[in-house]
Amino acid sequence: MADGLHTAFRVAATVPEGSAGLTLVLDGALPAEPGQFVMAWLPGIEERPFSIMDDDPLSLTVAAIGPFTRALCALRVGDRLWVRGPFGHGFALSGARHLLIGGGSGVASLTLLAKRLRAQRREAIAAIGARTASQLMLPWKFASLGITPLLATDDGTAGVRGTVLDVARDALDARWPESIYACGPEPMLRALAARTRTLGLPCWVSLERTMKCGIGICGNCHLGDRLVCRDGPVFPAELAQELWKTENDTPQRRRAHGGD
Ligand SMILES: Cc1cc2nc3c(=O)[nH]c(=O)nc-3n(C[C@H](O)[C@H](O)[C@H](O)COP(=O)(O)OP(=O)(O)OC[C@H]3O[C@@H](n4cnc5c(N)ncnc54)[C@H](O)[C@@H]3O)c2cc1C
Repeated sequence: MADGLHTAFRVAATVPEGSAGLTLVLDGALPAEPGQFVMAWLPGIEERPFSIMDDDPLSLTVAAIGPFTRALCALRVGDRLWVRGPFGHGFALSGARHLLIGGGSGVASLTLLAKRLRAQRREAIAAIGARTASQLMLPWKFASLGITPLLATDDGTAGVRGTVLDVARDALDARWPESIYACGPEPMLRALAARTRTLGLPCWVSLERTMKCGIGICGNCHLGDRLVCRDGPVFPAELAQELWKTENDTPQRRRAHGGD
């Protein structure tokens, strides 16, 4: 069913993501490019952006952090969810060896990419991180694609104690990847962008900003002279570094993006 803007899906299955949230597997496909997002709508509650974790069947992975994401995590099999999209510019695949780096719910923007890379039999390493083991999202999805993710947790309860950059250090220092793709808390992306620039490695980062329309009209998600919904959410890391310089790096903003 569609209203001209939205397509109505039903929840076909739910997969718990530890203490962090839930994956909603919906009852149909929505062809998309890796890194694109949809606007998910619950009438009377809100409409918010979510990465397309898988496009067939359409699946969204939700970290419960506020009213809307908690409402999504309360959906059960058979409930309806309305979706607009797909929107935005995703990851451009290039090269033979690929390093995927995800933190928190940002991991959800990398799994469709992993699926495409596996289908094309390209080499891929995934590094995923979270504050603690129970908040790691989607390790099962990578495993189902035949990719064993390298794990990092702040408290050392799973994988390496540290950040995803610590766990990816060997691959980075050896200049193994021909392309690097990342999504997660902004302090992590900033550190990665600085590191890959020093190493001269091509890197793409997927950015999150609060969005209303998702299609470049409202201007809510502006970053410098770009709109994250229309011009991103994926940007070359060097461009992201330039855009970050244009906005104030306040403690409030760092907290919103998972730092501090
Ligand atoms: C392109 C894109 C893709 C996304 N994909 C996913 C995804 O796959 N899974 C997922 O769980 N979340 C994703 N998000 C974030 C998701 O949209 C927000 O978590 C959600 O809107 C929060 O709504 P809420 O009502 O639950 O919480 P709110 O009460 O709105 O927010 C809770 C806290 O998080 C901060 N916050 C909310 N949204 C954002 C944002 N976009 N950027 C930075 N800080 C924010 C708020 O400032 C507040 O401090 C994505 C965002 C974007 C822009």
